[in-house]
Amino acid sequence: MIPFLDLKKINHRFEAEFQKAFKEVLSSGWYIKGKQHNAFEKEFADYCGSKYAIGCANGLDALNLAIKAFGFGVGDEIIVPANTYIASILAITDNGCTPVLVEPNLQTYNIDVERIESAITSHTKAIMVVHLYGQVVTMERVWKIAKKYHLKIIEDCAQAHGAMYQGKRVGTLGDISGFSFYPGKNLGALGDGGAVCTNILDIAEKIKALGNYGSHIKYENLYAGLNSRLDELQAAFLNIKLKRLDADNNRRREIAKYYRQNINHCDIILPQCEDEEGHVWHLFVVRCGSRDRLQEYLRGRGIETLIHYPIPPHKQQAYKQYNHLSFPLTEQIHNEVLSLPISPVMNDEEVKVVVEAINGFRG
Ligand SMILES: *Cc1c(COP(=O)(O)O)cnc(C)c1O
Repeated sequence: MIPFLDLKKINHRFEAEFQKAFKEVLSSGWYIKGKQHNAFEKEFADYCGSKYAIGCANGLDALNLAIKAFGFGVGDEIIVPANTYIASILAITDNGCTPVLVEPNLQTYNIDVERIESAITSHTKAIMVVHLYGQVVTMERVWKIAKKYHLKIIEDCAQAHGAMYQGKRVGTLGDISGFSFYPGKNLGALGDGGAVCTNILDIAEKIKALGNYGSHIKYENLYAGLNSRLDELQAAFLNIKLKRLDADNNRRREIAKYYRQNINHCDIILPQCEDEEGHVWHLFVVRCGSRDRLQEYLRGRGIETLIHYPIPPHKQQAYKQYNHLSFPLTEQIHNEVLSLPISPVMNDEEVKVVVEAINGFRG
């Protein structure tokens, strides 16, 4: 059996260090926003090349706080890819803003940068780019548009920890960024976690307060904030795992390279990669017209696959007001994509088994 993602195996590599960190936190008597938390904020900011990183409870909150910090609300529009995970869009609607959905590029699955400009109106405040599946959006074009129309750039980095573009890491390619440390992400905690990165001091301070009931000084509240903090224990685990992130991302690249060189099937479209060095392969997503049969076939061969994602956000019941909209490329992607197993702990033998099984598929 080849699991889609063997989290137990991933985390067992750190067992001794986790035990030590747990004991330290336990005996410190300080469980929220302590030494580990502050150390992680600093380490993560340094790793990304950002001036500030602010820990929070999860990736959705990170994006939510990012939008709040700029004060966007009712009447404001934020451009976002139509084929993202729903959390990107929830962060927008949670703030009362209107998501303006834009079709992806069918080669990269990222927002089609050529379609952004025509989606801009006098209400547009920001562009939220999502580095989907671990591949960085072509930022050059986004920077030009944002500059021309005075828009903020918000990065959803939940699938792209460590990914690079022109020598810079994601999280520093816009005005503000949100990360998730959900266990299955490239940098995952043993529970929920998130972070916001920015180079803007007053925005960083505001986010710190917003995530702590809007309080900047104990029992004094500047804003109507929320409770969104990163636990001391999760921060301790993340500190340990951050040191392995680059090595883990490299292993993902190796596996992706092997898949791309060896999967050879006329019914299966492989993912395209614009920058081998920059992509961190959170997911290895192929497309197939007979996707459901392919998934069933692989399951029969003991290979677990997943679909990211089966239903696009605008077709979800939660967004009835958008159900009538039509995004043919987005809908096509959702009908055809299949994510193959990829993780830093997958061995060469397992990767080979996946390739051979796929090449033997009779569409
Ligand atoms: C996982 C994810 C999120 C949300 O992160 P959580 O920590 O689960 O809240 C947001 N955006 C994208 C693209 C994601 O993949």
